[in-house]
Amino acid sequence: MISAIEADWLSASRRAADALRAILAQRPTTSERAVEVGLGEGGDRTLVIDERAEEAVFHELDTLHAEGHRFLAVSEERGEVDYGDDAVRVIIDPIDGSLNAKRGISHHAISIAVADGETMADVAFGYVRDLATGEEFVARRGAGATLDGNAVSREPGERRRGGKLEILGIESADPRWVAQSAAALAERAHRLRAIGSIAVSLCQVAAARFDGLVTLKGCRSVDAAAGQLIVREAGGRVAFIAYSDPLAAPLDLEPHSPLVAARTAEGLAELAEIPSVNLMKENS
Ligand SMILES: [Mg+2]
Repeated sequence: MISAIEADWLSASRRAADALRAILAQRPTTSERAVEVGLGEGGDRTLVIDERAEEAVFHELDTLHAEGHRFLAVSEERGEVDYGDDAVRVIIDPIDGSLNAKRGISHHAISIAVADGETMADVAFGYVRDLATGEEFVARRGAGATLDGNAVSREPGERRRGGKLEILGIESADPRWVAQSAAALAERAHRLRAIGSIAVSLCQVAAARFDGLVTLKGCRSVDAAAGQLIVREAGGRVAFIAYSDPLAAPLDLEPHSPLVAARTAEGLAELAEIPSVNLMKENS
């Protein structure tokens, strides 16, 4: 039996990313990209571009399966798809930042993670490609992270102004949740940035362009699994704050926990204090 964890995930991810860029190039306008085809397993409305993107990714998974690899796929729209072995999980968001993609705003990404267990700590490979800028982030557990093929520095690179983190990314930026967290954000951040893609925002932390990131409600593993490994392999810190073990969040489709990421342990501890909405508890 061929170990699925050692399949050529990088080549498969690159082929899927190239296919997605072509799919988006064929549908350049918002009216073309806004066509809805139903509700995904993750609960968001599925756009035709999400569906086409997922087809492109599953074409690559079908190919790996035909080559003898066995795994379980967990994808935003289709949910869990059994390819013969749940010991290896492939966590996919074909387009993270679909709203940006729909409206033609930069920063939407394909995110693919491969794990040999059931939690964030078990992710062994992470791939995020920003489909607008073309930037490609790759990480392998224990082997560091790359940006467009060049090693990403593990230096902290954290910048502060007046004691506050200079640039803090926020995600799940519903104004109600921003309002709820505003005072705590004001104490800890000099400026905020809300890109609209958790995967891309995590990559900004990995590259030390952001000094930290908070999601203002529980995030799903499909959005974060690849990016969190990329941050950690680039020397940064990540915590899923609903868990005492910071990487214990499961690799499934539920929004179990808000996520914080930072360049330093101090930054991470400060961000973990910011109030966030956990949808699993609050049911909002
Ligand atoms: Mg998506």
